[in-house]
Amino acid sequence: MSTRPAPAGEASALETAQSQLATAVAHLGYDDGLHQMLATPRREIQVAVPLHRDDGSRVLFQGYRVQHNVSRGPGKGGLRFHPSVHIDEVRALAMWMTWKCGIVDLPFGGAKGGVGIDPADYTPGELERVTRRYTSEIMPLIGPDTDIMAPDMGTDDRTMAWVMDTYSVNRGYTIPAVVTGKPLAVGGSLGRGTATSAGIVHVTAAALKEADAQMSDVSVAIQGFGKVGGNAATIFAERGARVVAVSDQYGGIRADDGLDLDRLADHVAETGSVAGFADADPISNAELIALDVDVLVPAAVEGVLTAESSRTVRARWVVEGANGPTTTAGDAVLAERGVTVVPDVLANAGGVVVSYFEWVQANQTYWWSAQEIAEKLARRMASAYADVSALARRDGVSLRDAATIIGVRRTAEAHEIRGLYP
Ligand code: GLU
Repeated sequence: MSTRPAPAGEASALETAQSQLATAVAHLGYDDGLHQMLATPRREIQVAVPLHRDDGSRVLFQGYRVQHNVSRGPGKGGLRFHPSVHIDEVRALAMWMTWKCGIVDLPFGGAKGGVGIDPADYTPGELERVTRRYTSEIMPLIGPDTDIMAPDMGTDDRTMAWVMDTYSVNRGYTIPAVVTGKPLAVGGSLGRGTATSAGIVHVTAAALKEADAQMSDVSVAIQGFGKVGGNAATIFAERGARVVAVSDQYGGIRADDGLDLDRLADHVAETGSVAGFADADPISNAELIALDVDVLVPAAVEGVLTAESSRTVRARWVVEGANGPTTTAGDAVLAERGVTVVPDVLANAGGVVVSYFEWVQANQTYWWSAQEIAEKLARRMASAYADVSALARRDGVSLRDAATIIGVRRTAEAHEIRGLYP
């Protein structure tokens, strides 16, 4: 499959995803036919999304939904609004969702959607119209038993309410299980908003424990201060870690004794960015990656840990909050430098785990307590980490390879046991 070229010298998300799959397939000894099936999306749809702007003008966006695999159950994965959304990126993200759902043993396949729009440039009303039109264009593919959306970069619980409403109105009755990550008022789950971040902290704790380290001993730097990175900072601090640096697209800040996260939250609410926070020193995103910290959490975009930037990493653990932050060449450099990488498909799986809980609750129309959800999430993350780490040790492979192998193997097993039709 040809892929969209990445910036000179850097691997695209799809190249990274395909190379991770190839490594797992070689390890598992699968034949070319099975490899091709696992490498190729099951279904994809591209749609035109026209918008009538508030000023009366019209603009057109491209939208996509890719179902990478549905052998273990309905497709599952987020909807991304970002100007750089491209079909190849959506394919990569959908593939990662398949492995991720396999690793945490959810009865889902993997899917992803995207619209090439910068949400910062549009009003809430315009974004609502884009969301509704996109939803109505991809209606034939989605549904509570076929493909279930959730928030991703540039979308949130409000977006999911619009998707749910559009789908439900067209069907003629309310169908909460068609999306997850919805507001509580329309069947969302307690704990979903912070689930990805909570999962990141759970797997970090598990990785530290294996090295006889404690959360209270470590310093943490987080790239990205959105839904994932922002909540992770709070939860790391609650668990006793020292969060010394954070950044967003406008810049970063550092305070070696630990950032005052309450005051930082006020600053972000006022200004929309962590940059310019008075109680810390300014740093760039590149400097944040190179900080002398114990744990580095890339929780922003893909491809930030390339061969070149990975050479600057001084952290002992990289815990991937974002999807695809490390390229294959970056992985090799980090391994050489003795950095333990807890891979995205494991580290950020807490979000889709609680999405699954939300879907189960919506299907049974009975909602669980926050404590039940927190406990079930903690158990599932701990058990996924234990599976991945045991395989890594047994076969002498990285946590990334072990995680991908588990996700790929569970998916391939479902393929093989179901057989080919016709
Ligand atoms: N967008 C999130 C992810 O990449 C969540 C997906 C979901 O909950 O379905 O894992």
